[in-house]
Amino acid sequence: MHQYVIQGSTQRLTVGKIIGLARTYKAHAEEMHATVTEEPLLFLKPESAVIYSGGSIIIPRNSHCLHHEVELGVVISKDGSHIPEANARDYVLGYLVALDITARDLQAEAKKQGWPWAIAKGFDTFAPISDVVLARKVPDPMNLELSLQVNGQLRQRANTSLLLYSLDHIVSFVSEIMTLRKGDLIMTGTPQGVDEVKEGDVLDAHLEGYCTLHVDVRRES
Ligand code: MG
Repeated sequence: MHQYVIQGSTQRLTVGKIIGLARTYKAHAEEMHATVTEEPLLFLKPESAVIYSGGSIIIPRNSHCLHHEVELGVVISKDGSHIPEANARDYVLGYLVALDITARDLQAEAKKQGWPWAIAKGFDTFAPISDVVLARKVPDPMNLELSLQVNGQLRQRANTSLLLYSLDHIVSFVSEIMTLRKGDLIMTGTPQGVDEVKEGDVLDAHLEGYCTLHVDVRRES
């Protein structure tokens, strides 16, 4: 079981299910030649994929192309289903910066064949997460700078104000489909600039002013 590290708190919280959203930033949908849908696409990522800052993303033997996707993560504070948008923030414990690591070659094949994305998104180490900043310390989660550097070079940078769906809508929308439980994590999708990571790369992700995440990349031995 994985547990969040919560800034300024000794509270232990187990990581629950991880809900991934896709096509939530227009410029990223365009770079993937994908269309934006009325609601975000949704997939699940296993909790077993979590690693922490200081850890290593492992390139599995099955893939020859891993991509980075830097994302705002939303940690759920209590169980809820059919949550009205007006109450959504009551269910948010805090935020983190996450990487939704994706085996892009396997995902491309899955898209072509109409298969699910579980393999492309689900390998061990494919969900690096930072520690959690409590929601009360973040005045406006829809105005946060997300960024990712690879080997010191900026690869992705965007403000969460560019999200096509509000945070309140995202929490409400997901809770209409599946009960959100305390400790669940919503990865809200990536802005533009996704690209390949290779063996030996060093990744630094930031939720600027709040959270940092530092991981490297290795190959399965
Ligand atoms: Mg993603």
